[in-house]
Amino acid sequence: MIKRQTTINRIFKITGIGLHSGRNVTLEFLPRREAGIAFIANGCMIPARYDHVADTRLSTQIASENASISTIEHLMAAFYFAGVTNCLVYIDGPEIPILDGSAWEFYHEMWRAGVYEFPDSGVYLKVLKPVEARNNDAWIRVKPLNTLDITMSIDFREPVGKQKKRVTDVENAFSIINSRTFGFLEELEAIQRAGLAKGASLDNAVAIGEDSIVNPDGLRYKKELVNHKILDCIGDLYTSGYRLLGKVEAFKTGHYLNNLLLREIFSSPDNYAIY
Ligand SMILES: [Zn+2]
Repeated sequence: MIKRQTTINRIFKITGIGLHSGRNVTLEFLPRREAGIAFIANGCMIPARYDHVADTRLSTQIASENASISTIEHLMAAFYFAGVTNCLVYIDGPEIPILDGSAWEFYHEMWRAGVYEFPDSGVYLKVLKPVEARNNDAWIRVKPLNTLDITMSIDFREPVGKQKKRVTDVENAFSIINSRTFGFLEELEAIQRAGLAKGASLDNAVAIGEDSIVNPDGLRYKKELVNHKILDCIGDLYTSGYRLLGKVEAFKTGHYLNNLLLREIFSSPDNYAIY
């Protein structure tokens, strides 16, 4: 468990294609003294924070007046797992590279760069009261707890069906980091007709066909899909600007509800403490 603010120990770059544009994007990671993760796009700084989240339909997108960046959630989860609280990321395109569809390469490069610790606290967001966000039959809630504990449930059409997973030691849950994003073939066709997901392939996503997984090597874990929902949730909750402490339970949650939960938490100073 990290105690103090941290940053990366050296500069590094990562290049890959964007899931939606299909075009190459390069990220340059720089150490940062100030608290938090922030992006620089088009010469404009965008904090990777819940109150800058502008769109949650296909991914978590942050925006300012002159620029937007999509699909930040896997990168944010990598920062969480690598124990990095402060970093500046220069980006030369509109979305974070999809890489293998998980947080693995981001995490690995951060781990290779190493972490530098500052003396400052202000790392944890401790939930003091139960807080919930709902949308139709989907929900996510958090209750006070001294660690981060996540129970995620999903309910999709077969062959995925209902899956549930609880992770008690989230900081060391390595099977979450390399669990890949997934999609249903019929939805992919509709999204591609809308001019999106041009970069989608079996190299960066698990594709679910009529009655089986399409990828020739299958899944990395039996529960890879629910694992990935936990990865998304960790990345989205890290846009609080802090490492959340609480017992999180969710059913059919997504980027919209994950963001709404943070807005609910921050809506009253009675709900949380920072330390
Ligand atoms: Zn995802």
